Amino acid sequence: MTRSTQARVRAQAILDMFHVRRPPVDVVRIADGLGFEVHDFAFPDESTSAVLIIDDDVRGIGVSETFAPTRKRFSIAHELGHYLLGHGDFADSKKTFEDGTYNYLDPQNRQESEANEFAAELLMPEKFLGRDVAEMGLDARALAKRYQVSEQALWIQLISLHLASKDDT
Ligand SMILES: [Zn+2]
Repeated sequence: MTRSTQARVRAQAILDMFHVRRPPVDVVRIADGLGFEVHDFAFPDESTSAVLIIDDDVRGIGVSETFAPTRKRFSIAHELGHYLLGHGDFADSKKTFEDGTYNYLDPQNRQESEANEFAAELLMPEKFLGRDVAEMGLDARALAKRYQVSEQALWIQLISLHLASKDDT
């Protein structure tokens, strides 16, 4: 493995648990399997991008209805990352975790970086992406379509896995 972090290892374990064999990864099915209902949501505050809600028997993920499908997928995966990586003390039976656009982009925020790494590995697993790059080359448009992710998210993952360098973008 090129870069083994706890977040990536956790994502790989989830892919195994759900017997994911090829892209695109059905992140809603995985969320459902983990007990989360996923809903589009019209957040009153534009800076809110997603929420994770755990309230006794209810588990939900809400993503902004204004997002493109690829961004919704990434946000759902990101929220699952927060849950599975133990962010925000979900030992408490009632918890709402709110994500703003600002914290996704804050490189100083360790939990945000970890949730993004989890999401990247869940949606673009190294074992699939490495093989596809070997077969297809660095065709970002085709790869983004195959994995149903944004080209930006794809490049970040390619560079993290050393499958591409910044010069390739
Ligand atoms: Zn987050």
